[in-house]
Amino acid sequence: MIKENLKKVQQIIKEGIGRRRPSVCQDNVKLIAVTKNHDVEAMREAIDAGAACIGENRIQEAVAKYDCLDRSVEWHLIGHLQTNKVKHAVEIFDLIHSVDSLKLAVELDKAARKIGKVQDVLLQVNLAKEESKSGIYREELPEILLAVAALENLQLCGLMCIAPNYGDSEQARPLFREMYQLFQEVRQMNLQTADIRFLSMGMSHDYKVAVEEGANIVRVGTAIFGQRQY
Ligand SMILES: *Cc1c(COP(=O)(O)O)cnc(C)c1O
Repeated sequence: MIKENLKKVQQIIKEGIGRRRPSVCQDNVKLIAVTKNHDVEAMREAIDAGAACIGENRIQEAVAKYDCLDRSVEWHLIGHLQTNKVKHAVEIFDLIHSVDSLKLAVELDKAARKIGKVQDVLLQVNLAKEESKSGIYREELPEILLAVAALENLQLCGLMCIAPNYGDSEQARPLFREMYQLFQEVRQMNLQTADIRFLSMGMSHDYKVAVEEGANIVRVGTAIFGQRQY
């Protein structure tokens, strides 16, 4: 089932790329298979079926799985990170999508320095200003971007966002379009110490629209693994 679902998602991504307007970059899309609340067996199945990147949202769960997973794969952190857990985060993750404050970035930079790593990160933007979600407001973004880009043990690679959960994914389109515009603006800042190349947006219910609007990373759980049991 996981295998078939994965193929279906990959197909929908491919079709989404084909439907992009000419003004949108024609980048390929990195699919993050979101395995939170699913066991290591499900992770293995997805990886063996071709998933190259997995996404987790909680450090404790990720640490436990990291220690048992006998497969080589890219690890992505997509959930809110507390500053007291940065040590584990830099040990495990290839890309941290959810940097939502300068304070967290500073702590991550320190932890990365201690282990001699340059940690790839994205800044999470709360474009819709939803109080239930973390993320940087648009107005604060330029200042935080510059500060994070200057941290030596972080490599700023782009932006991430979570769209509000509209009933109909078409309703997320204007927000995704605005995010893409913002991503282009950040690219054009030509930050010397950053390498702005990733725009992470789109989940099971709206990744098709996100890809059409220029996402080059999508984070998909339910559409691959089925409903999560909590
Ligand atoms: C859980 C989660 C996802 C995946 O959600 P699905 O609806 O299961 O695809 C994507 N992004 C973040 C930040 C998440 O926490």
